[in-house]
Amino acid sequence: MVSTAQTAPQIPQLELLERAKPARFPDTLLDEVRSGRLESLAPEEILAWGLAEFAPRLALSASFGSREGMVILDMLSRIDPANTRVFAIDTGRLHQETYDLMDRIRDRYKVQVEVFFPDAARVQQMVREHGLNLFYESGEKRQLCCGIRKVEPLKRALHGLDAWITGLRPEHGPTRKNVRAVEIDHVHDGRIKLNPLVRWTRADVDAYVEQNRVPVHALHARGFPSVGCMPCTRAIQPGEDERAGRWWWEQPEQRECGIHTGYEEKGSGI
Ligand code: SF4
Repeated sequence: MVSTAQTAPQIPQLELLERAKPARFPDTLLDEVRSGRLESLAPEEILAWGLAEFAPRLALSASFGSREGMVILDMLSRIDPANTRVFAIDTGRLHQETYDLMDRIRDRYKVQVEVFFPDAARVQQMVREHGLNLFYESGEKRQLCCGIRKVEPLKRALHGLDAWITGLRPEHGPTRKNVRAVEIDHVHDGRIKLNPLVRWTRADVDAYVEQNRVPVHALHARGFPSVGCMPCTRAIQPGEDERAGRWWWEQPEQRECGIHTGYEEKGSGI
């Protein structure tokens, strides 16, 4: 009898879990970061430097909920398409429009979006103990949810990387005012963290999107400049800072998920 069983599609093995720690960087590289020389470079120059130093162990971290990540992806694909890598964390609570954008980006740039998911057992235990909408009940429960759905998957995403790229800008709000263009990321085992848009304004970002027809999240046109998980994001009012719609029930200095926090304690930047 002929078997009708389907062979499971082969998914390319990503370079994960192979090495938890980043490479030991030479002193010359660390001195260059500490010197501040890279701080004055244009975003494309910072990315070119990062690609030359770290590819293929360098990737963009994109939420797909901000224009900045899409701008950087567009720049990377123009500089070095073969070494353009992007990862995203699917918390399980994202908007449908976020998934739509991931697929548009995949088609437009011919890039594999490396999606990381939370540990199913930990999500299951959290939901059984605290319910599905625990984040509205207290700051601790909100942090628990972000920790399980975002921060832990980020650690797995970084395992195979020596350096990562983000779209952070000081204009985003008080939690991001000390961001540098190139940092030694002591929170993540001394990896190098590139924030190439650090000196750009919102207008610069919008102009790049317009000029280069960069695909962006559909909810930006409906008053959401920063889109995260569906239950924790809302549209903002004129005059509010860009991240005011994220965890709007919390104080401004608490509005981070944990991916970009801990730097004050560990020593950020240099
Ligand atoms: Fe959970 Fe909200 Fe954090 Fe998403 S943003 S991980 S739903 S607390």
